[in-house]
Amino acid sequence: MENQLFIYNTLSRKKEKFEAQHPGRAGLYVCGPTVYGDPHLGHARPAITFDILFRYLRYLGYKVRYVRNITDVGHLVNDADSGEDKIAKKAKLEDLEPMEVVQYYLTRYHKAMEALNILPPSIEPHASGHILEQIQLVKDILNQGYAYESQGSVYFDVEKYDKDHHYGVLSGRNIEDMINTTRELDGQDEKHHAFDFALWKKASPEHIMRWPSPWSDGFPGWHLECTAMSKKYLGETFDIHGGGMDLIFPHHECEIAQSVASLGHEAVRYWMHNNMITVNGQKMGKSLGNFINLSQFFDGSHELLTQAYAPMTIRFFILQAHYRSTVDFSNEALQASEKGLARLLEAYKNIDRLVPHDALDAPSPENIATLSQKCYEAMNDDLNTPIVISYLFEAARIINSAIAGQIKLSEKDITALKQLFDVFLFDLLGIKDELKDGNASYEAFSKAIDMLLELRLQAKHNKDWPTSDKIRNELTALGFEIKDTKDGFEWRLNK
Ligand code: ZN
Repeated sequence: MENQLFIYNTLSRKKEKFEAQHPGRAGLYVCGPTVYGDPHLGHARPAITFDILFRYLRYLGYKVRYVRNITDVGHLVNDADSGEDKIAKKAKLEDLEPMEVVQYYLTRYHKAMEALNILPPSIEPHASGHILEQIQLVKDILNQGYAYESQGSVYFDVEKYDKDHHYGVLSGRNIEDMINTTRELDGQDEKHHAFDFALWKKASPEHIMRWPSPWSDGFPGWHLECTAMSKKYLGETFDIHGGGMDLIFPHHECEIAQSVASLGHEAVRYWMHNNMITVNGQKMGKSLGNFINLSQFFDGSHELLTQAYAPMTIRFFILQAHYRSTVDFSNEALQASEKGLARLLEAYKNIDRLVPHDALDAPSPENIATLSQKCYEAMNDDLNTPIVISYLFEAARIINSAIAGQIKLSEKDITALKQLFDVFLFDLLGIKDELKDGNASYEAFSKAIDMLLELRLQAKHNKDWPTSDKIRNELTALGFEIKDTKDGFEWRLNK
């Protein structure tokens, strides 16, 4: 069976057969985080989307070089090329070195990504570590005549570029509309047009992150880093560039213009964009109070959350939607995902309890043979993870029917079911059984709590109320919710 991946190319606006530029090797570049705040839900979606692509390309046998950058300079508070650097602003507020801010949030980002079982990329280059390459790129664009210097800053000449090429190919915008809709902003008189974007900015006296350049002591424009670093690590043409849909304009449109202006051709062969996340139907935004950090999901500490959600619940929930659809977070939807995932993991555990029957005696449910083929087809169809998940649920139903004695399975069927979960749920969707592999100490911890509650039951039985109350009160104070039931007790940890 030959697997042929088709991916939706944002540039051509259609699904295309993926053919790597160099046989057996794939180059993937994804815009990474700007590290000036805690990683939140918005970081999880592109990371998970491109983790699936990374895993699947590797599974198909490609040697993948996956580059995901760290924006640690030049991302300004105001996207119109003005305002403070976001990281420098945070550094000033907290009386830290900018690189202390970067390191602090980068460590938190990595921790959250690890919890979500996202494989680390092959290279994670920092913008601040590639100033020389960015200065060279500005020079190249100036030499080609698509940029101009103005009072120590260098701007991309969008109008000139648009005459020779077409500015707006990715986003579908055109320059006439932009002329009509962009206001001339105050303090932008050094630009020829409001839509020209900065390649190099002269630093104002209070700006702390600055480097010498032929034009001024300053810093690179935000769009420049990805063009410079993708070229350095993946070459002048590379396979796939990914990111969130919110980056299509201006960021990726500007990246295309920079590549075409400096190289004379497009650098990217396939552009892929994940859709956005909403919370209770609303766009996420700091001012809306629905900006939920990943750590708040994991410990349930945000006021919109009725409970904590395990990282795998978040991952599974995101994968239950196709990456090009929006995902709406709500407690109800997350709880449904939590239950769904628990059902799949339970079914997987039950595979070991299945007793194989003689093949003659156990006619294969006809769908077992085709389930894995259908899962591959779904992955090949632009990474259609919700369809893969629906087939895993079908497999879980078959396992449960066999456990209940309603159907008989042969050795071959049982092996096929196990393999289906191993390949698709664990290897490709990247789900891990958190209680089992992620957290070996959890089992010991649960047993210790069970033991305490057993002691409390005994104490109650002996009418030793002080001991019984002490155990209950102290566990409650630690955040445990304890419920007495007919056959004993139930507990969970609320944090
Ligand atoms: Zn980028």
